[in-house]
Amino acid sequence: MTAAVAAQPRKFRQLIAGEWVEAEGGRTFDDMNPFSGDVFAEVPASSGADAQRAIDAADQAFPAWAAMGARARQALFLKAADILERRADEIVRLMAQETGSAAAFSRFQVQWAVGLLRQAAGYPYLPGGEIVQSDTPGVFAMAVRKPLGVIGGISPWNGSLALGFRTVVAPLACGNTVVLKPSEDAPFCAGLLMGEVMTEAGFPPGVLNVITHAPGEVGPIADRLFESRQVRAYNFTGSSATGARLAARAGQHLKRIALELGGYNPMIVLKDADLDHSVDTAIFAAFFHQGQICMNTRKILVERPLFDAFLERFVARARALEAGDPSNPASKLGPLINDRAVASVAKGIEQAVAGGARVLAGGQYTGRCFEPTVLVDVPPHAPIYREEVFGPVVIVEPFDSEQEAIDKANGTDFGLSASVMTADVWKGITIGGQIQSGMVNVNGPTMGGEPQIPFGGVKDSGWARFGRWAIDMFSDLNLVTVSQNKRQYPL
Ligand code: NAD
Repeated sequence: MTAAVAAQPRKFRQLIAGEWVEAEGGRTFDDMNPFSGDVFAEVPASSGADAQRAIDAADQAFPAWAAMGARARQALFLKAADILERRADEIVRLMAQETGSAAAFSRFQVQWAVGLLRQAAGYPYLPGGEIVQSDTPGVFAMAVRKPLGVIGGISPWNGSLALGFRTVVAPLACGNTVVLKPSEDAPFCAGLLMGEVMTEAGFPPGVLNVITHAPGEVGPIADRLFESRQVRAYNFTGSSATGARLAARAGQHLKRIALELGGYNPMIVLKDADLDHSVDTAIFAAFFHQGQICMNTRKILVERPLFDAFLERFVARARALEAGDPSNPASKLGPLINDRAVASVAKGIEQAVAGGARVLAGGQYTGRCFEPTVLVDVPPHAPIYREEVFGPVVIVEPFDSEQEAIDKANGTDFGLSASVMTADVWKGITIGGQIQSGMVNVNGPTMGGEPQIPFGGVKDSGWARFGRWAIDMFSDLNLVTVSQNKRQYPL
């Protein structure tokens, strides 16, 4: 296929009870290619009734799945990893078309998700609990891990493949069943693809269900997911605003929700840092995936003696980066996900400039391709000074004392990831320890992540932790006691 020939849109169905089905009434919506503006796929536009069918399927599949032996369950996760690895090239192409992700980020995501599946394959063999000491003679007490039941998974579009799998893998590996509702901007890569892989691997019908919906039509599906007593908990990754709304809904029904939310990630460059490595790290951390990753660096704080030299090199590197067709393997950056995203990035820059900020690189866009943008002199009252603008825009600012850098790094409601660049590692650890952030990287980018790390934020960035810590979120600890002797009671 050449760029001049528009491909026929794919036609997808959704996964309920092991069947690939249309939405009730057969409605569909157009899933757009953010670079070309062509229709990538026609996707089912579900209603509340579809959501209920998916919930019922997950509920019915739960007892048998929870009881499945460790060896059988492990084999399914390992098979899913092999399938994903086999499909890597095809998936990289599809991610470019559906989400605008350039090859390097897509390949990272495939590798990450394969690792996640292989690691989760070991979960069924982890100890299922522990023995607890009892104060009562002859009482034997056990804390036993149990799955929760049906989990509602809600995934974002940005790290579509990695986060789509993260939304389902730990809950499934703990013995739960899942209804996954992917973002309307990536219904395939953040949802239906997980269904395809798990179905081919042999996961039993109903264990994973995937339902898709048109933009603006999440309401009835969310109502079913949050009001149903059959759904016991939620795994949400997305913006802090949506996370806050969904946490309130979950709280109303006294159900737990894992939250992985937005970030505003500072990078502190101390005057003793390696300049070239700091610039390389900052370029990657600020602009990878066009700044559409929760962990992208949003503010670079540079100790004054290094500021001018850092800025000069950083701006030159930023100006040399170009966004283009993500389907072209030579493109390092692709487009933003949709026109709303372009408008929001442009607005963030405009507000800063209106307050006196200077644009030293970028600031313009063509179609949905936004130039990597560097701002200085951003006034503290501009929203972009402390709020996440989800695109390739970064602020660079000098500081004079370590305390000032720490205060500036903490001057946001978010707390996902931070980095400190310095020749003095202990100083890096000490400063990093004072940043309110779920993750701190000394001499590394704010962005990264491996499936086994305790990934997660503090403050408005959420409270979930992934890696093996996710087991705590997606299982209950039940107490079982056995009284070996007849006991004496006060009544
Ligand atoms: P979003 O909050 O707009 O959407 C996320 C998901 O929530 C989508 O599936 C969407 O359909 C759904 N949703 C929206 N409103 C809903 C409602 N009322 N009821 C139920 N579901 C609803 O976020 P996004 O634009 O898809 O993703 C980008 C955001 O996610 C950024 O803020 C980014 O920082 C954050 N993010 C965080 C992490 C993390 O691990 N901390 C990872 C990736 C993205």
